[in-house]
Amino acid sequence: MSKLLAIVKNAESAKVAVGHFNVANLEMLKAVAMTAKKLSVPVIIGLSEGEREFVGVEAASTLIASLGEELKIHIFLNADHTYSLEKVAEAARAGYDSIVFDGSKLEFEENIKRTKEAVKIAKKIKKDILVEGELGYIGSGSKILKELPEGAAITAEDFTCPDEAARFVKETGVDMLAPAVGNIHGMFAGALNPKLDVKRIREVHKAAGVPLVLHGGSGISDEDFLAAIDAGISVIHISTELRMTWRKGLEASLKENPDEIAPYKLMSNVLAGMEKVIEKRLRLFNKI
Ligand SMILES: [Zn+2]
Repeated sequence: MSKLLAIVKNAESAKVAVGHFNVANLEMLKAVAMTAKKLSVPVIIGLSEGEREFVGVEAASTLIASLGEELKIHIFLNADHTYSLEKVAEAARAGYDSIVFDGSKLEFEENIKRTKEAVKIAKKIKKDILVEGELGYIGSGSKILKELPEGAAITAEDFTCPDEAARFVKETGVDMLAPAVGNIHGMFAGALNPKLDVKRIREVHKAAGVPLVLHGGSGISDEDFLAAIDAGISVIHISTELRMTWRKGLEASLKENPDEIAPYKLMSNVLAGMEKVIEKRLRLFNKI
């Protein structure tokens, strides 16, 4: 069993969740790593296809491995929302710890077929890599929402159904499953996101028999997070909240220091702001 799978399974039985944060640059990565070090908790760094293209597929892998060694922390790398089998293979070759194969927009049978192929390809290249499947569409992209994403599952009849979850896991061989249970990608600026269907999480977890991953964690209330963890969520994705904090911090820093040109000086406040958000989330998810 890979170290990451052991940690996720441990979280599943301890009823805590591993924090997953999307990063697109060095200061975001540093903020997550330093906070993980401070709290002595494991973390997963996620890079979507767009983020991987920007940072570099291999560069991300090398950076995270060296940070893990230097800081002596459990820090893992996930290829978030991967849509093509070519990009699945690319991430596996670069040594990623896990891959999210996102077939959530496909029809059920097609999603099974493609995800099964993704599992086969990824594990052939890296035996102990984890593959996560997506069942139920929750919108895409981490942004500030003005309305609910078009086509996203927002009512109980569109949420992931336990029977389908069981079949999906059995036939594809995924190690983890991301359901649609009221969560959506992105967050509203002035209001909380819709409430989670905790009962459904419990049913899907029981039927699927694998750890569940909650995408679209930004904008969810603390009470919902804790109830979701209790019901079987073992990994929680945060992206929009961190992006928003990064941007606000950067704007403030530029305004306060109009003549400063040293990036590391401008970024110190940005980093501190992000660390605050990450710490709050990690304390909640890990119950510390
Ligand atoms: Zn996601």
